Amino acid sequence: MTPKIARFLAGEPPASPCLVFDLERLEANFRNLRRALPLAHIYYAVKANPAAPVLERLTTLGSSFDAASIEEIRACLAAGAAPAAISFGNTIKKAVAIRAAYEAGIRLFAFDSAEELEKLATHAPGAQVYCRIIVANEGADWPLSRKFGAEIGLARELMLRAGTLGLDPCGLSFHVGSQQTRTDSYEAAIGRIAMLFTDLTEAGVNLRMVNLGGGFPVRYREAVPGIGDFAAAIMRAMTGHFGNALPEMLIEPGRCLVADAGVVASEVVLVSRRSHGDPVRWVYLDIGRFGGLAETENEAIRYRITTPHDGGPAGPVAIAGPTCDGADILYQRTPYRLPMALAAGDRVLLEGTGAYVTTYASQRFNGFTPLTEHYL
Ligand SMILES: *Cc1c(COP(=O)(O)O)cnc(C)c1O
Repeated sequence: MTPKIARFLAGEPPASPCLVFDLERLEANFRNLRRALPLAHIYYAVKANPAAPVLERLTTLGSSFDAASIEEIRACLAAGAAPAAISFGNTIKKAVAIRAAYEAGIRLFAFDSAEELEKLATHAPGAQVYCRIIVANEGADWPLSRKFGAEIGLARELMLRAGTLGLDPCGLSFHVGSQQTRTDSYEAAIGRIAMLFTDLTEAGVNLRMVNLGGGFPVRYREAVPGIGDFAAAIMRAMTGHFGNALPEMLIEPGRCLVADAGVVASEVVLVSRRSHGDPVRWVYLDIGRFGGLAETENEAIRYRITTPHDGGPAGPVAIAGPTCDGADILYQRTPYRLPMALAAGDRVLLEGTGAYVTTYASQRFNGFTPLTEHYL
């Protein structure tokens, strides 16, 4: 937690649950990343936290944006981003959204299938397009599975086809999965993309760009390699494969820019046991899976939790949300221990919740009001 957030929480208590977000930390994270990878253009993945103050601060810092929908594109434009600084990076887009983006001046689009390429040729004529390649997501705590990306052979065919459709096939992309904890995942993916890049260049395609996606991890409960380690691995692989003919590099970080800038403050609603003598207490918070903590599915993302009683005697707990749904459990298998003194009414803090929380909140499931947001 940053000093600014601590000061805010020490004042008049805000309605619970809420996210408190430090824009100075976001700025520091952005500058850090830019320093670590000075050759890469940063396209912030808007979905990680699309709040206007976040987009506005990043615009001021000179960031570009990776948007997934026409709504996210409009949010970036409203925050002052130039159309040339926005990539429509979703490989799954409605024709009307492509058209609207094109009319708004967007000229950079992702695709991973022949069908999407046809849509782009029709509704975004002449635009720059890049093909997303499927890569392994091992090492990612929040993998993207096989939902996205073309196999190399198909990608090659589609990139050649893009030119004949009047589009400008400018590059290739991949995404190694979110909260990716292994630096060698990037090296392996760069190796795959480089071979195709060379092959297509020899076939006459004017390729200029590789988009390395996002995935950079943050520290939750477990240590992860630092951004410097990822930067070193990426530059080693890029120079190893491309030598002095480095293509333009894009990265699309989401989580690593915003996660540790935010803290969710939540209230304990109930502490109970299933039976007398059961060592495990159930701690119910006023925020759960449907309140925005969707990444606790399969206990994939394990947030650090602090309480006013930290340091006192503690015991094992299961942690759940307040709704009447059996899936609304945050942690049951991950060994969490919380103070024995914890009681209803206490405020607990979930650290590192600046990414992938606010927008995952349901629309009032069971009537609960979604979390409020404070940007400092
Ligand atoms: C979600 C996503 C990102 C951001 O991923 P992080 O793990 O938050 O850095 C980047 N690019 C694409 C295409 C995405 O879908």
